[in-house]
Amino acid sequence: MAFEGLTEKLSAAFKKLRGKGRLSEADVKEAMREIRLALLEADVSYKVVKQFIAQVTEKAVGADVLEALSPAQMIIKIVNQELTDLMGGTSAKLEIASKPPTIVMMVGLQGAGKTTNCAKLAGLMKKQNGKRPLLAACDIYRPAAIKQLEVVGQQLDLPVFQMGQANPVDIAKAAIAHAKEHGNDMVFLDTAGRLHVDEELMDELRAIKAAVEPTEILLVVDAMIGQDAVNAAKAFDDALDIDGVVLTKLDGDARGGAALSIKAVTGKPIKFVGVGEKLDQIEVFHPDRMASRILGMGDMLSLIEKAEQNFDRQKALEMQEKLRKNKFTLTDFYEQMAQIKNMGSLSDLAGMLPGVKASDLEGANMDDGMLKQMEAIILSMTPYERENPGCLNSNRKKRIAAGSGTQVVDVNRLLKQFEMLQTITKQFSGGKLPRNMRKLMG
Ligand code: GDP
Repeated sequence: MAFEGLTEKLSAAFKKLRGKGRLSEADVKEAMREIRLALLEADVSYKVVKQFIAQVTEKAVGADVLEALSPAQMIIKIVNQELTDLMGGTSAKLEIASKPPTIVMMVGLQGAGKTTNCAKLAGLMKKQNGKRPLLAACDIYRPAAIKQLEVVGQQLDLPVFQMGQANPVDIAKAAIAHAKEHGNDMVFLDTAGRLHVDEELMDELRAIKAAVEPTEILLVVDAMIGQDAVNAAKAFDDALDIDGVVLTKLDGDARGGAALSIKAVTGKPIKFVGVGEKLDQIEVFHPDRMASRILGMGDMLSLIEKAEQNFDRQKALEMQEKLRKNKFTLTDFYEQMAQIKNMGSLSDLAGMLPGVKASDLEGANMDDGMLKQMEAIILSMTPYERENPGCLNSNRKKRIAAGSGTQVVDVNRLLKQFEMLQTITKQFSGGKLPRNMRKLMG
């Protein structure tokens, strides 16, 4: 799968940072060096890498360290954001003409996957957007190109327009007239390719563009050829002013350089990616999702996001104060558990806390059922009991269990979790919680 090496190397770079509470300048420098090498090995163009590292460094140095995040998480967050921006930020939509039909002209080198992806994309539009696309066979040079388009069209139950070996400009115009007549609201033009960029091809494509004024010109490029794909994209864009890219064969691209460089080099976004030979294996390209996939830490990233969203500084300070004065009660405990649940499982969080092993908190994972049960148990206590859990003898526990429809073991488990949290927090004496711990508390 794509980006394997890159993901592995970036993870290794981040892992070194993770145990550290504070990052020295040397730590950051070393991490940047590793990220730089990882990107170069992934065949990202040198210029792009250089600029990327400069931006990450600048942001890392100038960043307000958020209370909710550790320095290592901060760097991951910045790299994630910069990777997303590098690939275009938000996902770029296919433009739909205000007056149908929408004309999508597919261009690219031979073998890139033009014909296949004409059908894939038309199929996607039909399935997801309820469109009625027409495929038009404008590649009159490659033997069997017309037949191939008919075959894939048939598989997806899409109509195919063809005029044999006629002039491609005439075919394109006739296809559009045909679409208007038959109620097809999209036309996908499968144009000719060559093994290399050449002027004759560009002239033909320019002529089609001038004749039909397509809504979108999409360039199909093969991710597996790495920087050559980026060069092809540059050449096609210079000649035709393309609107976007369909990056195919991402499933076979172990490095990912093209995906990361195309937007930076051409200024044009990747709109779709091909991820397999099957005709439904095409996806809308989401730079943010791709970035977290590259980082191989989707979970970590959403945890960071949640921590930021849920972090309530005021509340954290109140809790700290209560803990310091030993006034942290079961009511507070319940509130905290509900917050933690919003942020993910307790063991996930534990994994991010320095010095806490996930196994320390085993059995403490929150799910909705458990939280409801905890709520019932705590609500079955008297206010006095909630504030003074030490008074809970077996009679009281029995009464609480009966009142909450649970067993005494459930009550005991809850008390044990409560104690565990107290123990962890007490380790940090003096009332000052380390950065990461505050998140758990707040
Ligand atoms: P064209 O010459 O540009 O029209 O290329 P084709 O559409 O004939 O595709 C060339 C080859 O690439 C075919 O064997 C396709 O099945 C294959 N192909 C296209 N897209 C993908 C993809 O996303 N993943 C994989 N693995 N193969 C693809």
